[in-house]
Amino acid sequence: MWTNDRVDQLKSLWTEGLSASQIAQTLGEGITRNAVIGKVHRLGLAGRAMPSRVDRPRLPSVPRIHLRARQPEPPVVEEEPIQLEDGSFVGVLTINDRMCRWPIGDPSAEEFHFCGRMPKGGSPYCEAHARKAYQPHQVRDRRRMAG
Ligand SMILES: [Zn+2]
Repeated sequence: MWTNDRVDQLKSLWTEGLSASQIAQTLGEGITRNAVIGKVHRLGLAGRAMPSRVDRPRLPSVPRIHLRARQPEPPVVEEEPIQLEDGSFVGVLTINDRMCRWPIGDPSAEEFHFCGRMPKGGSPYCEAHARKAYQPHQVRDRRRMAG
């Protein structure tokens, strides 16, 4: 119950700087901390001990640094696989050491064949495929995804 005496007491205690719970204890009987806070609001006393919210000064936004895209490697120019005299491509049975072993197509598919061009010295692949073979994987992945 808020008697006039209690309200007066509340006002003075609040003005003195006591916290809501301290005031509730002082007023005793039936007055809870929440009741004090509610009454304070209704009396328009709120804001006394509330630390004013200071807006933090905004930090100047850091300009975004645009990383320059890396120069792409010159694309590997893949030549068409050679065709044998009968018009077929170099397959598992017709491949030999003097032919590029770069696989073309799905190995499980009938049309799977090899590049068959002249290998670059020491490599099982022709020049284009040797370069392609030693490219970073991500480049090859990207090509695969694109194509
Ligand atoms: Zn090749």
